[in-house]
This record gives sequence, C-alpha cells and structure tokens, in this order.
Amino acid sequence: GVNFKGLLRRNWLLIATIISVLLGISLGVVVREYASFTHLHKQYFGFPGEVLMRMLKLVILPLIISSMITGVAALDSEVSGKIGLRAVIYYFSTTIIAVILGIILVMTIKPGVSQTAEHIDRSGTTPNVTTVDTLLDLIRNMFPENLVQACFQQYKTKRKELEPPKIQSNNTIPTIPPLTTTIASVVENITRDYKIVGSYSDGINVLGLIVFCVAFGLVIGKMGEKGRILLEFFDALNEATMKLVQIIMCYMPVGILFLIAAKIIEVEDWEIFRKMGLYMVTVLSGLAIHATICLPLIYFIIVRKNPFTFTLGMAQALVTALMISSSSATLPVTFRCAEENNRIDKRITRFVLPVGATINMDGTALYEAVAAIFIAQLNDYALDVGQIVTISITATVASIGAAGVPNAGLVTMVIVLTAVGLPASDVTLIVAVDWLLDRFRTMINVLGDAYGAGIVQKLSKRELERMDLTSDVDVANP
Ligand code: ASP
Repeated sequence: GVNFKGLLRRNWLLIATIISVLLGISLGVVVREYASFTHLHKQYFGFPGEVLMRMLKLVILPLIISSMITGVAALDSEVSGKIGLRAVIYYFSTTIIAVILGIILVMTIKPGVSQTAEHIDRSGTTPNVTTVDTLLDLIRNMFPENLVQACFQQYKTKRKELEPPKIQSNNTIPTIPPLTTTIASVVENITRDYKIVGSYSDGINVLGLIVFCVAFGLVIGKMGEKGRILLEFFDALNEATMKLVQIIMCYMPVGILFLIAAKIIEVEDWEIFRKMGLYMVTVLSGLAIHATICLPLIYFIIVRKNPFTFTLGMAQALVTALMISSSSATLPVTFRCAEENNRIDKRITRFVLPVGATINMDGTALYEAVAAIFIAQLNDYALDVGQIVTISITATVASIGAAGVPNAGLVTMVIVLTAVGLPASDVTLIVAVDWLLDRFRTMINVLGDAYGAGIVQKLSKRELERMDLTSDVDVANP
C-alpha cells in the first residue's frame, strides 16, 4: 500500500546497501568457486570498494576539525564542560559494563578450556609493548608537536612495505603469505616501530586534533565579535563537508558490494572458524547482549523513548561499520544517521560523536577481555581475582587507546596480555578470525557512540533550552 511505498522512499539507501551486501556475498562465493584469481586480479576486484574507503577517509579530517571546533565554540565553556563530563561518564560506565559482561561470558562458556594452545598454530613473534608505554604514547598523541604533521602520520607508509610482493621481473607469480602471517607481521611492525599507534586513524592523529580543536573552540567562543567570524567559517565548512558526505553515501552500495565480495574471495582459511567456533560465539553473544539489552536499557531508563527505534535509525551506520570495520571511517555516516533519523541536536553530535569514535569502544573492550581470558584458558593459566581486575582495567585502557581503524584492537590486545603475564605473541592465536570479529565489535562501538549522543542530549536538555532562549543568532541550528 501507500505506507510501504513511503517506507521504501525514505529508506532507499539502506535498502540498497543491504541488497548490495547480499549481492556482494553471493558474488564473492560464486567467483571464489568458479574463477581462479591471481593476487593482482583480486586487487582489481576490490577496487570499487577501495575507492569508497578512500572517499570516506577523505572527509574525516575536515569533518572532525569543523565539527569539534563549532561544537565547542557554539556552547559557552560552562555548558561544554558539563556536556563533556556527561559524555565521559557515559563512555566510561558503558565500557566497564561491556568488559564485565565479556568476563562473565568467557568464564561461563570457557571456550578455551576444551583445547590447549599446542593444538593451535603458534607462528608469531613477540611484540614489545608495556602499559606504561601505551599510556605515555596516548598522552603524547594528545599533544602533537606539529599540527600539520598530526594530519598525516607516517605509519601508513610503514604498512605499505608489508604488503605482499608484486609480480617480479621474471614474470613468475609470487606466493601470497597466508593471512595469519601477514597480519601478525603487521602487528609486530606497528608495535615495534611505533610502540602503540593508539589514536592514529589512517594517518590522522585524531586524538591530538580533538584536543587541539577543543582548546581552539573554547578560545574562539570567548573571543566575542572576532571569534564569531571564525565560528561562522568552521560552521560553513561543516555544512559543506556534510553535503559531500551525502554524495559519497550514494556511491556506498556499489563500493560495499565489491568490498565484501573481494573479502570473501581473499579469505584463505575458513576451516579456522570451525576450530575457533566457541570463542567466536562468546564474543558475538557478548556483543549482541550489549547491543540489545545493556545499551537499550540505559537509554530507556534515561531517555524514556523506544531504544529500538533509535537503533533502527542508526542502521545505515551500523551496516557501514560492519562492512568497513572502522569507526573513524564510519563517522560521517554516524553523523548523518544521528542527526537526520534520530534528530539529535547538532550541538551534541558535533561534540560527542568524534570523541566517541576515538575513545569510546564498548565492543573492543568486551572483545579484549574475552580474548585475554580465552588465551589464558588455552594456556591452562589460572587467573586469580587480582588478575581478572587487571584484565578489566587494561581492557578498558586498551579500548581507549585503540584507534578507530581495522584490527586496532588486536594491536592493543598486547597490553592486556602482558599485564597479566601471558605471552604477548599469543595474539597470533586469535589473528585468523579477527577480521570477522573486528567488523562486529566496530558495529557495537559505533552504536555505543550514537546511544551516548542520545543520552547526553537528554541529560543536557535544560542547558540546551536555556541557550535557545538567550542566544540571538543560533549558529549550530540556523
Ligand atoms: N576496528 C575497531 C574500530 O574501528 C577498533 C578495533 O579494532 O577494535 O572501532
């Protein structure tokens, strides 16, 4: 009927995206079955997806800068302080809840007890990271020495060297190293050369930029008439960037189709999923409980609205996160869903979403706790209460320190393992299934950020209303 047509029209992009996911999976399976591809061809196949990723990453920089500066400058410092505090309390408490949930599940399901580490291939090296190093690097990143450099960090080029070799001059096709060793060597190289890449998202030191933009925004907000010019400039930049995002999103179904198809063609070892089944079930059920019970319950208690309508409103962002496993690159879509579908005030999203995408990772925290205890179980290593508390604390730190990029959580996993005396090289035991778990935890990370924006908006209702009454020109919502 009429209703159905309206539904279709309003959600065409989401519907197209979901169809393209299904098409992509089928295409991947068919091509994998019937075509033999060289490594080079596989790269070509994923090309449209690569372009989508590049476009999404492209807008991260102007988006973060313009939204954070306007977000802070449009509020007076007292109000932004309050909103910031509420956001931080939300981030922290939901992360802890996720960690505790993960620990409870892994200790009841005991996925690692049935098997021992000897049965699983250990083929890695030992990355060397300590908790102190991580914390220091996290703080270092908050204060980049050079603003321009903070926009492009070199670890991207480092990673390039690790890519599989190209065809040699004598025209023989090189053998591709198995996925496990490739990722293990990436992990090792990143951790060795940069200790911990923490807040670096695709070459952008997001945390450093956020700290700078908050300070800059506060100063602009206090500058009066002159500050207003800058505020209007960044506000316009923000609007223009969001228009770009709208265009990019039209390309999304195409990009996603090839992204997922290429991934399915690329995966070498499906057998591993059977071996690691119980571990994956533990992580996935933890994420599912967090997303369908914990977060919605908190939202309902505070906001008193239907949390599932809220989740549905975020659907496009959730599918995107699932497909690209990066909270940072999903950020533009998260913004659109939160503002357009869930009607969250721009003054809140601009502030809460970029920070959330960088430090609030419920899914990652849950995963880190489960994975660490799983590895302990594999090693027949009994953990005492003190060590379990240590795991909860370090898993929280590790999730804050992880950048919003693919597999970042795997890198910071090392902190959790070393903190309780487990061999850091044991991350290699879980590497092979990480690409799949990464997608799901990223989805929960993004959902947690969105709920955070909804909850902080409700808690800050009074301040926002007071501002609406007093301000003459409303820059945030003209
Ligand atoms: N990929 C995740 C994210 O972007 C981080 C992680 O690896 O846990 O949120």
